[in-house]
Amino acid sequence: MDLYSGYINKLIEEFAALPGIGNKSAQRLAFHLISMPQEKVNRLAKVMIDARANIKYCKNCFTLTDTELCPVCANQKRNHKLIMVVENSRDLAAYEKTQKYEGVYHVLHGAISPMIGIGPQDIKIKELIERLKDDVEEVIIATNSSLEGETTAMYISKLIKPTGIKVTRIASGVPVGGDLEYIDEITLMRALDGRVEM
Ligand code: ZN
Repeated sequence: MDLYSGYINKLIEEFAALPGIGNKSAQRLAFHLISMPQEKVNRLAKVMIDARANIKYCKNCFTLTDTELCPVCANQKRNHKLIMVVENSRDLAAYEKTQKYEGVYHVLHGAISPMIGIGPQDIKIKELIERLKDDVEEVIIATNSSLEGETTAMYISKLIKPTGIKVTRIASGVPVGGDLEYIDEITLMRALDGRVEM
């Protein structure tokens, strides 16, 4: 027996399929949505559709951006010989918030995880290696300190070593398994300053 109308059920289903949203939250969101004024719902839907349609990867570092080159890559004042490798655009944002990092980034969009079938070819590793043909002095690997993050760091370091380019890893002290975006700016700066050669 369906307790709600088909539309509400569909709405709950779609919300529940999003990360971090359980069935109860999905119901709450669905009922909230239908109590909202029609024009607010229209605006929300449009923002989602426009974002999905217009956001793309920076052609240099692969972070999410509206333009061909993201603001960091387009900035000539940044040190383009220094590349920090992060797992996602949220990690990039966390480092940018410190306003202390002067290099550029490379966004992998994930980490190697054999457990769930994510291999090196599924994230932006070959794109990183391609960038090393330019004049690069150091690659800082700032993947998370989770098992996946460490595996990815080791894998990338082994690939880069033969090129003679310096490879460093951010200092531990970043809580194990901690997502970079939740770590405060001082901890991030310490991790960056205390990086060690791999
Ligand atoms: Zn970029």
